[in-house]
Amino acid sequence: MRSAGERRELLKGVYEEARECTRCRLHQTRTKVVFGAGNADAELLFIGEAPGANEDRMGLPFVGQAGKLLDTLLAEIGLQPADVWICNVLKCRPPDNRDPQPNEIESCQGYLRAQVDLIEPTVICTLGNFSTKLLRGDMTGISRLHGREEVRIVGSRAVRLYPLYHPAAALYTPSMLETLRQDFHRIPQLIALGAPEQPEEMHGIPEAEDPAEETTEEVLEDARSADPEPEYVAQLGLF
Ligand code: URA
Repeated sequence: MRSAGERRELLKGVYEEARECTRCRLHQTRTKVVFGAGNADAELLFIGEAPGANEDRMGLPFVGQAGKLLDTLLAEIGLQPADVWICNVLKCRPPDNRDPQPNEIESCQGYLRAQVDLIEPTVICTLGNFSTKLLRGDMTGISRLHGREEVRIVGSRAVRLYPLYHPAAALYTPSMLETLRQDFHRIPQLIALGAPEQPEEMHGIPEAEDPAEETTEEVLEDARSADPEPEYVAQLGLF
């Protein structure tokens, strides 16, 4: 079992790699890589679709109106953004917010997988159709799945997958907002159930090339000998 400090250092190592990523063409148009933000030791992880214009400028996920709503809903269940990890399937903004393309999703999948493997969350909330379909590996839509917990393998972990409406969609539809709020209120119970039984072998979403090619020990050793934390790491709000 890794300590919170080890998770944090390993996550920083993956971020350092993602910052320089040129695996797909989105690197040509991004302003900043939006790796994710929050608590490296979180039990609850949120996964949206892709950064928008504000996120691309700031280098942080969910900083616009949808992010404010997410913060409000978290506060209603007694949590702060610093208690959870928030990220997206894609770490770079697709131009004009177009849909992510299959090769972009594939290029980016290793980063998401590394985040799940390092943080080891109990509950993963997919936000909206896109991340829900990707993580479940089927085309069932969010209106049928929201608020229904299921145990799924994500990366190498069994987690409680809990699809929710995307807060950006709920902003403009009061009935959807009410449903999102009700679904949100079940999250503490799901966390309290603890992690589901873990599989002995790895299966699940196809193994993507691991972006963290160094071993855990190597990354931790680098981190121990590194210079003081650069400002761009501090900006992630890593706890
Ligand atoms: N929508 C998303 O899916 N992700 C963000 O970071 C912002 C809006």
